[in-house]
Amino acid sequence: MKRVFKILKILALCLGVLVLALGILLFVTFSGGLPIADGQRLDGVEVVKDGIVSAFIVDIDDHSVALVDAGNDRQAQPILHALARRGLGVEAVKAIFLTHGDRDHTAGVLAFPRAEVMALEPDVALAEGRAVKSLFKHFASPRPNGIKVARPLRDGETLQVGGLDVRVFAVPGHTPGSAAFLARSVLFMGDSAEATKDGKLAAGHWLFTENPAQDRASLRQLAARLQPFAAEVKAIACAHSGVLTRGLAPLAEFAAGEKGH
Ligand SMILES: [Zn+2]
Repeated sequence: MKRVFKILKILALCLGVLVLALGILLFVTFSGGLPIADGQRLDGVEVVKDGIVSAFIVDIDDHSVALVDAGNDRQAQPILHALARRGLGVEAVKAIFLTHGDRDHTAGVLAFPRAEVMALEPDVALAEGRAVKSLFKHFASPRPNGIKVARPLRDGETLQVGGLDVRVFAVPGHTPGSAAFLARSVLFMGDSAEATKDGKLAAGHWLFTENPAQDRASLRQLAARLQPFAAEVKAIACAHSGVLTRGLAPLAEFAAGEKGH
């Protein structure tokens, strides 16, 4: 009996150390990030904080909107509350643009059955649960989740949803089908980049990025591609941190800083 207690004690101690290490790792990872400001309004864009992630409501007109990502909550409560504050309901959401197929960005999709769901082609299977992220492929098996991507997106295309223009850029790295979207002068980065507390843009955290080198290369390419439209970009919105409002500058600075590497 004594022996059993001793083993249990050691196991509990190991578990404690593991939890502590994980806690420290998460703290170090997220403490440098600009906090998400729930309800922050830019011109035609509203930030909705859903725990550790954000989704964005993008105005189409007075009574219809698009979403960039759908949050981590299966019932999409934070988004529904934000819509309700404007007197809008589920049916107001006409389109959902997924920055990538990870669950913390797609969980709320099914709460909007009338919305057309769009994602870059390489992440469609991940978004629909028919594929598992390569980081987890040894621990999990695919399980279709009911999400149907109505329209696979292509790099470089511009979509019109009502009067709203959405420009699509492939930024592979965090996942193979990670996308950045430019809509209403906001550049939505998903998990491909992070906003830091001192107003800079950093690459996606290596711990959660499938291919960190590819992510950095994608950000450099995006900076070059957007240079001709620099005046159109008023803000940069990352999914797990706050919105940067210095135009394209943070991305251009990131790219310039990468040149010597
Ligand atoms: Zn995420």
